Amino acid sequence: RSTMEEPSGTHTKRKVVAVVGGGLVGSLNACYFAQRGFNVEVFETREDIRQAKIVRGRSINLALSHRGRQALKHVGMEEKIVSQGIPMHARMIHSLSGKQSPIPYGKKGQYILSVDRANLNKELLTEAEKYPNAKLNFDHKLQDWSPETGLMTFARSDGSTEHIEADLIVGCDGAFSAIRKQFLRRSRFNYSQTYIPHGYMELTMPPIDGEFAMKPNYLHIWPRNTFMMIALPNLDKTFTCTLFMPFEEFEKITSGDEVMEFFQKYFPDTIPLIGPDALRRDYFRLPAQAMVSVKCSPYHIGDKCVLMGDAAHAVVPFYGQGMNAGFEDCIVFDEILNQFDEDLSECFHKRTKKTPRMSWRYESSIDADLGGSLQMRAHVNSKWFLFRKHVDNI
Ligand code: FAD
Repeated sequence: RSTMEEPSGTHTKRKVVAVVGGGLVGSLNACYFAQRGFNVEVFETREDIRQAKIVRGRSINLALSHRGRQALKHVGMEEKIVSQGIPMHARMIHSLSGKQSPIPYGKKGQYILSVDRANLNKELLTEAEKYPNAKLNFDHKLQDWSPETGLMTFARSDGSTEHIEADLIVGCDGAFSAIRKQFLRRSRFNYSQTYIPHGYMELTMPPIDGEFAMKPNYLHIWPRNTFMMIALPNLDKTFTCTLFMPFEEFEKITSGDEVMEFFQKYFPDTIPLIGPDALRRDYFRLPAQAMVSVKCSPYHIGDKCVLMGDAAHAVVPFYGQGMNAGFEDCIVFDEILNQFDEDLSECFHKRTKKTPRMSWRYESSIDADLGGSLQMRAHVNSKWFLFRKHVDNI
């Protein structure tokens, strides 16, 4: 089928931008492109999460930081999202003895926010839909696309397929990007994918007498050498606890008694707060989930397609970088569109020479390991810079 009809009375055909993936970065990106007046179509493999009873996906909540907020601000969404988040002014470190010590995130008054992933995604989809020149297509799974013509093939759940053409394809379809497959077929495309030995599991800490079970305005951390647990507050006064641990350690625990033994040894203060029965049960509810990091370059094929968000640079979650970096992609690309007057071929071809910030952002990579070192390489004006910082926790 052809893409969106032009509004009546318009004579010049506006460029069609297809955003593949209606997750966090795709839905924000749709707002950015729509705000500029492009005809935007979002294609998302899932059903509309605003109608779905169960939203499957990754972490329940995530930490939104300054650069993520800046990107939301640009499309008028900052205030709304911040008002639905819970400020976390410091990490709260829980020692084995139960002692709690705060380590502030910044100066007095500075904080990051705990936000509900599903709610943030829903709000961004609703915002994108407000633009008359943006259309959301759910139940559209990208199967293949052509870098020569920009023709995309989507599979629908009823078994049918749809073929759709766009001027620019923006691949925001996450760490296992289907858009990226075409890049892999091309010469001089660098790609690496690394699974870390750790998995993660989420557990819920319910409210006690209608109140948060721990101090709410902190990101709680239980650092324990090769593994750790963190807890972020939710608006319903629960905490989502995430246990990060090597898969081989997860696999050693096979019974409710072993779960209790493990928590008694490493996280004794959390047993009464999560509840012994819930712990025994919830530990086995879902298997631990894998974590992958992805690096690749370049991020575009001619002026036909560009990768953003996890599709371009998935990182491990310990530093709260992934979504914030993906949101920053939207604002950086928007600045480049401004700089080159929306001439897409100029944007892509001259970006490395003329836009140091773009090359910084797009050539940078973050390697992190639990309680290890944070390493960042940045390519600015043809020079490589290497930063290393030792970190014990988030
Ligand atoms: P995704 O969120 O993966 O969205 C991709 C979308 O594309 C999905 O909706 C998917 O259904 C759709 N899709 C996939 N394939 C297709 C296809 N073939 N056709 C059409 N649609 C498709 N980041 C932070 O900044 N702060 C945090 O605190 C934080 N915590 C995290 C905790 C955990 C446990 C994990 C796993 C990650 C965390 N992250 C965090 C990282 C963050 O979740 C990701 O960086 C972010 O979700 C990336 O957004 P995205 O839109 O690029 O990809």
